[in-house]
Amino acid sequence: MPNTLFDALFAPLAGRSSAFLILPDGSELSGDAFLRLVARQAHALRAAGLGVGDRIAVQIAKSPEALASYGAAVALGAIFLPLNTAYTADEVDYFLGNATPKIFLCDAAKRATLEPVATRHGATVLTLNADGSGTLSEAAANQPDTITPAERGPEDLAAFLYTSGTTGRSKGAMLTHRNLLSNAEVLVDLWRFTADDVLLHALPIFHTHGLFVASNISLLTGGTMIFLPGFDVETVLRLLPRATTMMGVPTFYTRLLDDPRFDRAAARHMRLFISGSAPLLAETHQQFESRTGHRILERYGMTETNMSTSNPYEGERRAGTVGFPLPGVELRILTPEGAPVAQGEVGVIEVRGPNVFKGYWQMPEKTREELREDGWFVTGDLGCRDADGYVVIVGRAKDLVISGGFNVYPKEVELLLDEVPGVLESAVIGLPHPDFGEAVFAVLVPQKGVTLDPDAALAAIRDKLARFKQPKAAVVLPDLPRNTMGKVQKNLLRDAYKTRFT
Ligand code: ATP
Ligand code: MG
Repeated sequence: MPNTLFDALFAPLAGRSSAFLILPDGSELSGDAFLRLVARQAHALRAAGLGVGDRIAVQIAKSPEALASYGAAVALGAIFLPLNTAYTADEVDYFLGNATPKIFLCDAAKRATLEPVATRHGATVLTLNADGSGTLSEAAANQPDTITPAERGPEDLAAFLYTSGTTGRSKGAMLTHRNLLSNAEVLVDLWRFTADDVLLHALPIFHTHGLFVASNISLLTGGTMIFLPGFDVETVLRLLPRATTMMGVPTFYTRLLDDPRFDRAAARHMRLFISGSAPLLAETHQQFESRTGHRILERYGMTETNMSTSNPYEGERRAGTVGFPLPGVELRILTPEGAPVAQGEVGVIEVRGPNVFKGYWQMPEKTREELREDGWFVTGDLGCRDADGYVVIVGRAKDLVISGGFNVYPKEVELLLDEVPGVLESAVIGLPHPDFGEAVFAVLVPQKGVTLDPDAALAAIRDKLARFKQPKAAVVLPDLPRNTMGKVQKNLLRDAYKTRFT
């Protein structure tokens, strides 16, 4: 029966003897073997009660079997709901309560803690461990290795993907078969992916970047993935010679640059490096080019929209920008009054297109606030366009500092601080202040081996900024708090220093 995603992504693996996945030890799993894994798991999950439209939540380590559970959910017409492996039992409790899945898949080591949580929300627990073992695999072992997929059309839901929770409680974005497939098709075209590509995949697969952007592209083209459980420089350098492309968060690239073995020769054979999920510093972009000769291609997206903009494949990949709206995706930048901004002026970014989600699961108010009736999604990101139309992300509306009635865009201040000798990176936040409402405050991270004087660093940028934008104080920390996707958690910083001026 027709099943939009299964037919486009998984069915074509049938009979493919070449590697679909290359594993850390260099061994390979063929496309056909992977599809048989998907089919066996689907039969086992169906026997456990998973049917069309049911949710399956998974909190499992990255492995071929874990990726197969995505395929199995698609085959059954179920809704796939991957969870960050770092979430605690309390957090899992929220997600299972919110999504009420029929099946919850977790690591056997966590079963004792999580089973009561799952049971309370009516979910049946099966286990899947990092090495592929577990009760799901046991149940799947003797199942048939072909499956007729359940009928699903473009508008049917394929996944609830929870946002990263950088700005508040994670929200479940309802994504359809069409949302996912249309985006993969556009990206394959734009980034020139083919069956010959071998993508180095060190991203987690509970997030849109690793699960949908990377995996869907590879599945759609019949390509191969070097499938690593995480980003480990040794393993990446060892396996990079087999890759043609790599997708990463900015920290992957800074970690590669920290290693002198990563040089022009190590990257010579590569076709493309892509970055996203968090801002790539222009400085990293430039260092990467001078070290390897490659210009990293930066793109912008989010859980709710898949990918929305990208730098061009041919043509200039401009550092500090996220390029242009993808074909078929509309993007506009509006003032608080709802009028289009002038070129160069900052406003809130909105996007519309086949990539945009159907709303937040069980959050009708939030959905109404952010998803307009005419299809425009209010991203909550602030941005502008440069003179050539490249979109520049300036930060999140929630991170905007309003000091004495004036808007301060943290990024503007951070870029200046990052240039101060001895500063590796910085985060600028607003803290409650009795006179100004909010005061600008800077958190500085020194370069390796440098002792940084925070006041001297502030003095160094004093004549470059209007007074209201200047941080009133700064602290030095060994590093910035980041979540698994490399995003700076400014809410934690705001919390830690909230009484600084009060
Ligand atoms: P939450 O919505 O729960 O607060 P989140 O927004 O971090 O979490 P994601 O959907 O994983 O959850 O992340 C999307 C956000 O990541 C975007 O809205 C944007 O702020 C940021 N982002 C993604 N790519 C880029 C990029 N290339 N440059 C700057 N920011 C980016
Ligand atoms: Mg968000």
